[in-house]
Amino acid sequence: MDKLIGNLNKLLSEVEEAKYRYSVKYDVGLVAAGKFRSTEELKTVFSTGKIEAIGENRVQEFREKYTPDMTWDMIGQLQTNKVKYVVGKVRLIQSLDRIALAEEIQKTAEKRGVVQQCLVEINSGSEENKGGIEAEELKEFVKRMQDFPNIKLRGVMAVAPRGIGETQLEKCFLKARDAFRSIDFSDNFDILSMGMSEDFSVAIKCGSNLIRPGRILFDGASSIIK
Ligand SMILES: *Cc1c(COP(=O)(O)O)cnc(C)c1O
Repeated sequence: MDKLIGNLNKLLSEVEEAKYRYSVKYDVGLVAAGKFRSTEELKTVFSTGKIEAIGENRVQEFREKYTPDMTWDMIGQLQTNKVKYVVGKVRLIQSLDRIALAEEIQKTAEKRGVVQQCLVEINSGSEENKGGIEAEELKEFVKRMQDFPNIKLRGVMAVAPRGIGETQLEKCFLKARDAFRSIDFSDNFDILSMGMSEDFSVAIKCGSNLIRPGRILFDGASSIIK
């Protein structure tokens, strides 16, 4: 577990470095992508107080690992029939990407008397078979959310395609950032979740204020093959 703390500290200093390099003055938060990691590992990183939440991809895995003494985000594609397992338990559903999903979240949140915070997922590389709406659709999508009083939109999440060059990567992130900034929602629409192990520096350069590292945190930098 000492190795894990070492990885975390190294990552934190790399985040600081990127912030300095790109003159970023605001905080950049961390969500630890917890897929395939043990509860033990998750507890170790969470107990440092240096990460905001554990991000889980699959509801099944989330249910197996969930304990209320940690903060959780849902970061993977969410099926409507699984919504009942996460509403009110996760800080953020980062992967809100369709109206049918919003309807289900609304229904469940209303029944439970909670307001569920969500991020709208943007498919920044316009990849087929990937979740997320097109950046151009964000404004309309946000407008539609006014019909869902038990959903509170906090911002945008984007996953960039893997294995693309840095120029393309920046293009994807900037597209998501511009869409995010085009929403004039004074009301706490302030989270831009972009960046994983391979691309968090570029994401920070492009305005991310919440990164979602997995491998670089749990396995160390040596596991990252670009
Ligand atoms: C797996 C995953 C991550 C973390 O990816 P790494 O490459 O391990 O850093 C971040 N976000 C989402 C949505 C993921 O599925």
